[in-house]
Amino acid sequence: MTPRNRESLIFERSVPGKVGMDLPRLDVPEAKDTRPEKLRRKGFDAMPSVSEVDVIRHFTRLSKWNYGVDDGLYPLGSCTMKHNPRLNEKTSGLPGFTDSHPMAPAEHVQGNLALIHTLQEWLKEITGLDAVTLQPSAGAAGELTGVMLIRAYHVAHGSKRRVILIPDSAHGTNPATAAMAGYEVLEIASQADGTVSFEDVTDAAGKVRKGLLTLARELGDEIAGLMITNPNTLGVFEYRIKDIAEVIHGVGGLVYMDGANMNALVGVARPGDFGVDVMHLNLHKTFSTPHGGGGPGSGPVACTKALEPFLPRPVVVRETQRVGEGQVARHTYRLDWDRPSSMGKVHTFFGNFGILVRALTYCLSHGGDGLREATLRAIVNANYIRKQLEGTYHLEYQTPTLHEVIFDDHDLAQHDIHTLDVAKGLIDRGFHPPTIYFPAIVHGALMIEPTESEGKDELDAFIDAMKDIAREAAENPEALHQAPVRAPMRRLDETTAARKPVLRWVKG
Ligand SMILES: *Cc1c(COP(=O)(O)O)cnc(C)c1O
Repeated sequence: MTPRNRESLIFERSVPGKVGMDLPRLDVPEAKDTRPEKLRRKGFDAMPSVSEVDVIRHFTRLSKWNYGVDDGLYPLGSCTMKHNPRLNEKTSGLPGFTDSHPMAPAEHVQGNLALIHTLQEWLKEITGLDAVTLQPSAGAAGELTGVMLIRAYHVAHGSKRRVILIPDSAHGTNPATAAMAGYEVLEIASQADGTVSFEDVTDAAGKVRKGLLTLARELGDEIAGLMITNPNTLGVFEYRIKDIAEVIHGVGGLVYMDGANMNALVGVARPGDFGVDVMHLNLHKTFSTPHGGGGPGSGPVACTKALEPFLPRPVVVRETQRVGEGQVARHTYRLDWDRPSSMGKVHTFFGNFGILVRALTYCLSHGGDGLREATLRAIVNANYIRKQLEGTYHLEYQTPTLHEVIFDDHDLAQHDIHTLDVAKGLIDRGFHPPTIYFPAIVHGALMIEPTESEGKDELDAFIDAMKDIAREAAENPEALHQAPVRAPMRRLDETTAARKPVLRWVKG
């Protein structure tokens, strides 16, 4: 018998002949299967035979094991797991949006095109850049689109630059993107405060790692650009970003900003104003859409005028006529395919449209002032956690941080307690763990991003849980090694799960 806190697969519950509904008995002769023999599926018994109540209970039980943003604080750093306003769901479910066909002629879907155009205008204002494409379907897809824009720009200017510079604190998608776009990746060292180092840095082992100025001097016109995250993955604002951009522009390169951390900047600082040429936004992070289950997401790319000609097509263009005596403005929208320098498409149709509806709803319901306030609250929340836990957990970088804070397990190692134990201990205390072991430049990192969604009570409950774990680490480390004991699953073999995932059910 399967214990109550275990759940077998729905396939394993299958009982031949069991059904969820009755169909009336055939009152006509059974039709002959006329499909050619070779096209018929053989041995297909993958559909479970279960009743309606079996299905409902199975999925309801599984859903109760899950932990989502609707359960409580979800401090997964860099992922911006904020509350998803239900209004977004209401608007994105309007039949006018859900029932329109992506191949409908422009004159039939003026409302949809207006929505795309309006969201682009908001994102231009928020980023301080000149043009936006909404096609990319996630942050990483936006990165690739952005770096391909850089490449198209250099190719159009006849230069064969081969290198992209990336700070060592970067998210793994950055070097992966640059490599996919055909570039060689060179790492820039970070200095003691966690920001990009202009000078060379000698590490503890005596190895010299190159700073920005050395790389710029040595490589010069081989540099296609820089990919930088700001605030960086330590939550620290790259306060010399203008100087960094100047160095890169000085050798003819372009600056790409990974905008995954825009929840720390929206309404406060605009990348276009501090030297960024092209960047992506994660609508599913900063602009609130449910995420974490693998999609759909949206990673719009914003860029300067110089890069605009290379953007994916079609581009939604607005035309304004003045009509009637009052000369009232009437807008019409059309699709501009006639863009000879365009890189082509990076997604079918217009990207993940439902996410765009949610993002615009988020913008309009906050208003400009509300977006700014959300940013400030996200920063205050992260700094409240930082102040409360500063004496309890080790902080490798003392530099002030914005919307997230990165502690580590340095002080717990004496009890043989490590970051993973803290994460598992949080599960027993009713919280989702933070991001762990990232960024790689902090050994045993615990990266906490509470977002603006949390009130003081929830933050205090989390802080108490973290303090309780530190106490248990000192007093009874063996108990913490056992965690989680209250979850349906204990410690999993995560390495094997990642390296040899079992993705198909095979009938036993
Ligand atoms: C989330 C994230 C990405 C990738 O975004 P996806 O939408 O998951 O593809 C890139 N960089 C940073 C810093 C991120 O946090």
